[in-house]
Amino acid sequence: MTDFQAIIEIIRARYPGSGEVIPLHAPVMGEIEKAYLAACVDSTFVSSVGAYVTRFEEEIARFCGARHAIATVNGTAALHMALLLAEVRPGDLVLTQSLTFVATANAVAYCGVSPFFLDVDRETLGLDAAPLADYLAEGCRREDGRLLDRKTGRRVAACLPMSTFGLPADLPRIAALCDAYGLPLVEDAAEALGSYRNGRHMGTFGRMGVLSFNGNKVLTTGGGGMILTDDDGLAARARHLTTTAKQPHPWAYVHDQVGYNYRLPNLNAAFGCAQMERLPALLADKRRLAVEYAGALADLGVSFVAEPADCVANYWLCAMLLSGPEERDAFLAEAVAAGVQCRPAWTPLHRLPMYADCPRRPLPVSEEIAGRLVNLPSTPRMKL
Ligand SMILES: *Cc1c(COP(=O)(O)O)cnc(C)c1O
Repeated sequence: MTDFQAIIEIIRARYPGSGEVIPLHAPVMGEIEKAYLAACVDSTFVSSVGAYVTRFEEEIARFCGARHAIATVNGTAALHMALLLAEVRPGDLVLTQSLTFVATANAVAYCGVSPFFLDVDRETLGLDAAPLADYLAEGCRREDGRLLDRKTGRRVAACLPMSTFGLPADLPRIAALCDAYGLPLVEDAAEALGSYRNGRHMGTFGRMGVLSFNGNKVLTTGGGGMILTDDDGLAARARHLTTTAKQPHPWAYVHDQVGYNYRLPNLNAAFGCAQMERLPALLADKRRLAVEYAGALADLGVSFVAEPADCVANYWLCAMLLSGPEERDAFLAEAVAAGVQCRPAWTPLHRLPMYADCPRRPLPVSEEIAGRLVNLPSTPRMKL
C-alpha cells in the first residue's frame, strides 16, 4: 500500500508557509507586471494595436527559435486559426490524441472537422508515432495527391500532436511521417513553453505550432496564445485573419474575407513582456521542484513521470503514477481533504459525449494513464 500521508507531506514540505490550500498551479506575478501594465495604460494603447504586442511576439519568436510568432486572444483561438491556415476543411479528419485537454479537439470541431484519435506512448504521454505510422500505411490511401481514410473516404487533412504536461512528444518521428505522407503538421505545444526535443523548442517541428498563456500555464498573459511558424506566407495570413481580414489603408474599412477578432490586446501583451523577464527563473524553479519530487517519491516507491531521453521538459505540471483508478481516487480524496490540490489527468476525449463517436484506433495507453496519473502542485516557488 502506498503511504498517502507521506506523499502529502512531501508536497507540503515543498510549499512551507503556504496557507490552507496548496493550488495545483498558480500564476507568479508582482512588481514587474504592475510596472508594465501601468506603462501600457499610460501609453493609452490597451487594445489590439500597440508596441507590447509586437515586442511580446518578437521575444517569444526569439525564445522558441521560430521565424514568426503571431499573438492571439488564447491558445484555443491560435489552434483554430492554425488549423484553418493548414487548409482543414469541413468533412475532413484531423489525427490527434485522445489524452489531451479538450481544447485540442474543440479547435478541430470548430473547423467542421472530426478528430481521429490515436494512442499516446508511455514514455512521452504524447501522440505515439507507431500507431500513426500503422494508420498512415494501412488505414489510408492516396488519390489525386490527397490522403484519404480507406474506410470512409474522408480526407485526412492534418496531424495535431500535443506535448502532454510539457513533456516533449516524439516530434522528430511524427514530423518525418507527416513529411513522407505530405500531411500538414500542426503542433499543440500549449503546455510546452520551455520544452525541447533534441535541442529544438516544441511547437517548431511542423508548419505551425501553438502556445497558450492561460492563467495556469508556465507563463501567463491572463489569457493569450501564440502561433509559431517559419513560413512567411502563413505568418502574413495569420496576422491578416486574426485582425478581421482588414486591408491596410489610411482610412477605409475594407475586409477581403471572413476574418476573426483573435488578436491579443496590448494590455495582455504588456503582462506577457513582464513575465518573459521571469521565464528563465520560472523554468529553473520548476526543474528544481521536479527533481525534489522525483527523489522523494522514489524513496516511497512511487513513480514520478520524468522527461524522456534527449529532452528538456518544462515540468509544467509534475505527475506521478499510482496503481490504478481505485488507488488514484482514494489518494485524490485524501489529498484534496488535506488542502492539497492534486488532480487526475483529463478524461480521454473519446469518453466525452461530443467526441464519443469520432473514429479512433485502440487507445490502451491513454486509458491506462488516465486511470493512474496524478498531477502534483507545480507552482514555481519564487521570492517576489
Ligand atoms: C491550455 C491548453 C490549450 C488552450 O489554451 P487556452 O489558452 O486556454 O485557450 C490547448 N491545448 C492544450 C493541450 C492546453 O493545455
